[in-house]
This record gives sequence, structure tokens and C-alpha cells, in this order.
Amino acid sequence: MSHNGSLEKMRAYFSSGATMSAAFRKTQLKKLKQAILDHEQELYDALYSDLRKSKEESWVTELGLVISEINTAIRKLGEWMAPERTGTNLLNLPSGSRIYKEPLGTVLIIAPWNYPFHLLVNPLVGAIAAGNVSVLKPSEFAPATDAVMKKLFTTTFEPEYILYVQGEGHAVIPSLLEQFRFDHIFYTGSTQVGRIIYKMAADKLVPVTLELGGKSPCIVESDADIRVAARRIAVTKFSNAGQMCVAPDYVLVHESVKPELLEALRHSLVDFFGSRPQESESYGRIINHKQFDRITEYIAEGEIFHGGETDRQNLFIGPTILTNVPLTGKVMQEEIFGPVLPVLPFSDRSMATSIIANHPDPLAFYLFTSSNKKEKEWIEGTRFGGGCVNNASWHLTNHNLPFGGRGNSGTGAYHGRYSFDTFSHKKAVMKTPTWFDPAIKYPPFKGKLNLFKRVIR
Ligand code: NAD
Repeated sequence: MSHNGSLEKMRAYFSSGATMSAAFRKTQLKKLKQAILDHEQELYDALYSDLRKSKEESWVTELGLVISEINTAIRKLGEWMAPERTGTNLLNLPSGSRIYKEPLGTVLIIAPWNYPFHLLVNPLVGAIAAGNVSVLKPSEFAPATDAVMKKLFTTTFEPEYILYVQGEGHAVIPSLLEQFRFDHIFYTGSTQVGRIIYKMAADKLVPVTLELGGKSPCIVESDADIRVAARRIAVTKFSNAGQMCVAPDYVLVHESVKPELLEALRHSLVDFFGSRPQESESYGRIINHKQFDRITEYIAEGEIFHGGETDRQNLFIGPTILTNVPLTGKVMQEEIFGPVLPVLPFSDRSMATSIIANHPDPLAFYLFTSSNKKEKEWIEGTRFGGGCVNNASWHLTNHNLPFGGRGNSGTGAYHGRYSFDTFSHKKAVMKTPTWFDPAIKYPPFKGKLNLFKRVIR
């Protein structure tokens, strides 16, 4: 389907300057917030239908996080938009220097299915705050949420400001990128598709933010508080049935505390979801049969310490803990992205480090320890996007921290002020007074070398 006409209208709308004022941006953010609240129940129903998320989980991980992002943007917008004064070097004195924040223009935001609302709308908050016009491309694999979001956006915003485009990514996105030169692409999803998007963007020199996946390790040292570690690992690993980009992918536990951790994990899971998790209102489902079949294959690769129940018809995979998994198995080669947690023992840091090195630059990294020395060694000695000490995944909910990966897990970051920066161009401007105009700056330069050497060094 051709969107060329709509996209040209968006460009014209942006060029009219309509999105430039703080007042306009705040109004749009307030409209978005009100629209979310007006569709709250429909969004809960849709998220339940797509992923069996409870209202409570949907609020914490989808709607509430976005509302909090909107509130922050409204509160901080003036400060973020203000031109930044910066210093001027000796060579250019008495000039003054400023950095202006300019919207990028027309941006394309592409989202995956696991947090279908949050991962589409959270970046949009930054795009609106920074004064852009946005094309939204949700995932086709969360159809109920897609339908509610389509209604929300098409009834709240004019299409020349926010255009909602549905369809299968492999068909829609290449054609969008061929028709139109976007000013930025913000993509969240798998590393594999991220690579395709990056190549298409490179062809037209379109800058990208890539929020990708990977195998995020979780280390439990011998001196960790094991009960707390188990609870905090279990709660985020099995939230959304493990379909979370920042879920701990696998646990590396010091061999001296492995039995204790395994028991504590089992205890936490029974505590959270009961002995029959399929009946728990707090436990989600797998998005579709393709993902179900992929994840259930992993279970056969290790010894089931806990869980392992599956029900294909109802897309249910119980929270599962595996031991004795081979490093060469698929479960340790691919991102799990499901409710299967391999627990592997390590005897010293170098052994754990060599396992992590099989999947460099994970999106997240978690460490449980009570030792400041170990904390320093792990945090300074490991490359990763972001992470937590004595916690897992929650760093994502703190909008004061930039959220993003590096290398294989992505490029660029967002949330709070970092979203505003991602969707802004930093325009550097130096202003020079005319009353001071020394001859040294003009030819002929002969004989001025020593003076230049004193000023420029
Ligand atoms: P997905 O299949 O829904 O794909 C994501 C988006 O890409 C969709 O909008 C889809 O339509 C589009 N797409 C798919 N194939 C395409 C193609 N060939 N060309 C162009 N566009 C295409 O979701 P997914 O990729 O399965 O999502 C899961 C992955 O996303 C996991 O790897 C996970 O770790 C990662 N993820 C990362 C974050 C993060 O914030 N870094 C968040 C959530 C998920």
C-alpha cells in the first residue's frame, strides 16, 4: 500500500512549524495521556487477549510506565527545550556558544509484540516532546492491542501529525522506506530484524536507534542474599511468561550456593503462581504457536528442576528451571525469550566470564552480591547495555537512566531526558560580537606561527 501522499503531508505539516512550540507539544502529550486513560479498559482487555496479562501487570509494565513518562516530559519540557549555554575556547573569545535542540522531522517508530503498547508509545512520548511528527508501526503479532491502538491514535490525532500504519513488517517497512526518506528510525525488536532495518536505513543515510535483544546473564555470587536474589530473579524472569527483553536469560551461580538458590527459586515460583501456575491469574501466555514450539524445544535440552508443564492449545508453558544444560545446546546459544531459566554453576569469575563472552554485549546484566569489591570487578569488567546490582530488570523503569544496548544489543538509548535527546538534533551555534576583530585572524599569516601556537594548543 502506498503511503507516499500521507507521508508528504506529514513532511509539509512539520515544515509549517506547527510542532515547534512548547505549548503545542504539551497539549499533544496531555491529549495522549487522556486518550490512554479513556481506552484503559480496552487496552487491559486487549493485552489480556494477546498475552493474558493481568490488569495489574499491564498497568505496571505498559500503561503506567508510559503515563509516568508523559508526566515527566510535561514537567521537564521547558528545561529540556531551553538552548544550552556552553563554554567557548580561548581561540574564539569573546564569542558565546549555545546548543539548540531542534526536532529531527518525520520519525518512524517500529515496535515488537511483547510489550506492544509500551514499546510503541514510550518512544512516541520522546518524539512528541522533541517536536517531531511520527509514523507508528506496531507489531502484527499482538492483534488485539494493535486494533485498540489504531482506534486510540486515529481518533485522537490528525494523520499528518501521527500516522498509524498496520501490517506485516517485512512487507510494510521496506515499502515505507523506499517511498520516503525518514529523518530517524527508532526500532525495537530482534537483532536479526534490526540488522535488516539498519541496512535499509544506511542506503538513505537515515540515522537509527536500535533497541535489540540478546542473552542477558545474571550472576549470583556466594555472598549474595539467596532468598532475595531468588525472588527478584523469579519475578522478572517469569513476568509476561519470560517474553521480556531485559529478563535474566540464564543464571550463573557460584557452585557453593547452587542447591540453596535452586530451592529458593522453586519456593518463590510456588509462592508467586501456586503449584498449578496454569490456574494463576498472575501468569501469562506465549504469544503464538511459533514461539511456543521454539521455547518448548529448549526444555528438552536440560534436566527439569522445576516446572516443564506445557499446553500447546492454550499456549501455556509453566515457569521452568533447567539444570545441566550444555553450552552447545540451543538454549545457551539463542535468546530464550520465554519462561525457561537455565541455572549453571561457576567456580570462579574467569569461568563465568568465558560463558558470558559467548554472547558479547548483552542488553542487560544482573549481579547479586554483598561484596563491594566483587561489584566493582563485575561492573567494570563486563560490557553490557544496562543492569542492576541485587535486582533484575527494574533499571528499565527508572527514567533517570538511559535505556539501551550496545553492539549486538543495540545502538542509542531513550527514556526521560534521553528520549528527548534521541529525537532532537543538537544544533551548535557560536555568536561572535563585532566590536572585537583582531587582525591576527586574517591573512597575511606570515610571522604569526608562534602566536598561533600559544593560542591553539
Ligand atoms: P516482531 O517480530 O514483532 O518484530 C518487531 C517489528 O519488526 C515488528 O513491528 C515487525 O512488523 C517488524 N518486522 C519483522 N520482520 C521484519 C522484516 N523482515 N523487515 C522489516 N520489519 C520487520 O518482534 P520480535 O523481533 O520477535 O521481538 C522480540 C525481540 O525484540 C527479542 O529479541 C527481544 O529481546 C527484543 N526486544 C528488545 C527490546 C528492547 O527494548 N531492547 C524490547 C522488547 C523486545
